[in-house]
Amino acid sequence: MLIWLQLLWDALVQLWQHAAGLLLLHILLTALISALSIAAALYYHFRQQRSQLESNLEDELQSRTLELTATLNELEEKNRILAEQNTHDALTGCRNRAYFDKKIVAELKRSRRGQRPLGIIMLDIDRFKEVNDNHGHLAGDRVIQAVASRAQQMLKRSSDQLCRYGGEEFAILLPNTTTEGCALLAEHIRDNIAASPIATDGAELHITISAGLFACTASAQHLSRDFIDAADKALNQAKQDGRNRVKIAPNSEPDAAVSEGVSDEPIL
Ligand code: GH3
Ligand code: MG
Ligand code: MG
Repeated sequence: MLIWLQLLWDALVQLWQHAAGLLLLHILLTALISALSIAAALYYHFRQQRSQLESNLEDELQSRTLELTATLNELEEKNRILAEQNTHDALTGCRNRAYFDKKIVAELKRSRRGQRPLGIIMLDIDRFKEVNDNHGHLAGDRVIQAVASRAQQMLKRSSDQLCRYGGEEFAILLPNTTTEGCALLAEHIRDNIAASPIATDGAELHITISAGLFACTASAQHLSRDFIDAADKALNQAKQDGRNRVKIAPNSEPDAAVSEGVSDEPIL
C-alpha cells in the first residue's frame, strides 16, 4: 500500500512538474508570440508612417519644384520684358541709342557677309531749342514724339529701324537699301514733317527736319563709326546749307556700283 501511495505521489509530482513545465513553456511561448506580434505591429505601423511621410515629402517637394519653376519662368519673362524695355526710348517708344549701337555692328557684318548695301539716315529737328524756349519743354517733348511717330510710319520694311540717337536726333538703319532708296525715304520723311504742323497743347507748330545719309556695302575695313560719321557730316552740311533738306554723304556708294540682285522691294 505504501508503495502504491509512493508511486502515486511520484506520479503526481511528475505530473505537477510536467504541467508546471508546460505552463512555463506556454507562458514563454505566449510571451514570445506577443512580443513578436507587437514587434510586427510596430514595424508595420512605423513602415506605414515612414511611407506616408515619404509620400508627403515627395508631394511637398513636387509642389515646391512646381512653385520654383513657375517663379523662375515668371522671373525669366520679367527679365525678357526688362531687357526689351531697356532697348526702347521712354519718350518716343522707338529703339534707343544702346540698341542702335549694337544693331549697327550686327547690320555691318550682315552687309559685309551678304554684299548688300547698308544705309543710315541721321535726322535732326531744326531749331528745336527755340521750341523749348518759346513753348516749353512739354511742347518740345510732344514734337519729338510726333517726329518719331511720323518717321516710323514711313518705314515699310520690318528690318528698318528708327532709333532715338539722343535729344532731338534720330538714326534710321536701313539694311539692304541703296543710296537712292535712303535719299527717297529721307526726303519723304522731311516732306511729311514740313507739310503739316504738329499739334501741341499750346499751339500748332511748324517743324522742319534736316537729314544726312550714307549708304554703302560694308567692306572688311568699315567700322560702324565710319557710317555714323559720314551720315553725321552730311547732316551738318544740310544744316549749314539752310536746314529743312536732305544731304547725301559724298562717299556714299553710287547706285550703279551696287551689285545686281539687290532687292527691288519698294522703299515707300
Ligand atoms: P539745329 O537746327 O542746329 O539742330 O538747332 P537746335 O536748336 O535743334 O539744336 P540744339 O542742339 O542747339 O538744341 C537741341 C535742344 O534739344 C537742346 C536740348 O535742351 C533739347 N532737348 C534734348 N533732348 C530733349 C528732350 O527729350 N525733350 C526736350 N523737350 N528737349 C530736349
Ligand atoms: Mg536740332
Ligand atoms: Mg541736335
